[in-house]
Amino acid sequence: MTADPIKLVRRGLMFVLSSPSGAGKSTLARQLLEADSGLELSVSVTTRPRRRSEREGVHYHFIDDVHFNRMVERGDLLEWATVHGNHYGTPIEPVEDALSAGRDVLFDIDWQGTAQIAEKLPDDLVRVFVLPPSMRELKARLERRAEDSRETIGRRLVGSLEEIEQWSRYDYVIVNDDLQRAFEAVKGILTAERLKRDRVLGLRSFVSQLLSEGRDLVDH
Ligand code: 5GP
Repeated sequence: MTADPIKLVRRGLMFVLSSPSGAGKSTLARQLLEADSGLELSVSVTTRPRRRSEREGVHYHFIDDVHFNRMVERGDLLEWATVHGNHYGTPIEPVEDALSAGRDVLFDIDWQGTAQIAEKLPDDLVRVFVLPPSMRELKARLERRAEDSRETIGRRLVGSLEEIEQWSRYDYVIVNDDLQRAFEAVKGILTAERLKRDRVLGLRSFVSQLLSEGRDLVDH
C-alpha cells in the first residue's frame, strides 16, 4: 500500500531584481515570468511618463503626483522611492494577497525600495543584483533602447553609478555578460530559495511521518 502523496506547502517569497537601467534586468524579469507560472510581477505605480512600448497596468500603473502622495499618506505602498527624478512605489495589497496564498512575487525595484522591504519583511525576501559587463556596454544598451531622450540617458548613466555602489546589500550578484547564462543563474537562485528548509511548512511533520514509517518497516 502506498501512502497518500504528501503536499508540502510553502510561504510565498519576494524575489527582487535590481540593477542600473540597461543592465538587462527587465529582460531577465520577463523571461522569468514567462518560464515560471508560480511567479507574478508586482506592478508598481510611477509618476514617470509612459514609454511608447509600455502598457498601463502591465508594466506600471501610471499616476500623477497627487495620486502618488495620497497613496503614500494612506500607507498603500509597501515601499517607495524617487529614482531619476520620478516617484515609484509598490502597492502593498496585491503583494500581501499573493504571499498569503503561497504565490511568489517578482519585484523590479531599486536598492532604496529593496532596503525598505528588507526592514519590514526580511524572512520572505531574496535580493538579486544584476551588473552590466562594463559601463561602456551599459551606455550602449541605454542608447540602443532609443526610447529616452539624450538628457534622460545621461541622467540614467549617472544614476546607475549610485545604484551599482549598493551591490553589497544584495544576497546574490550576477554579471549579465550573456543573457542566457544570466537567466539560468537567476532561475537557479529562485529554485534553490524555494527549497529552503525554513520556507517549507509542514516539513517537520513530514519527516516525523517518514521516520515512523521507516521504524515500522525496520520492526517488521
Ligand atoms: P524605469 O523608469 O526604467 O522603468 O525604472 C527606473 C528604476 O526604478 C529601475 O531601477 C526600477 O527598478 C526602479 N523601480 C521601478 N518600480 C519601482 C518601485 O516600485 N519601487 C522602487 N523603489 N523602484 C522602482
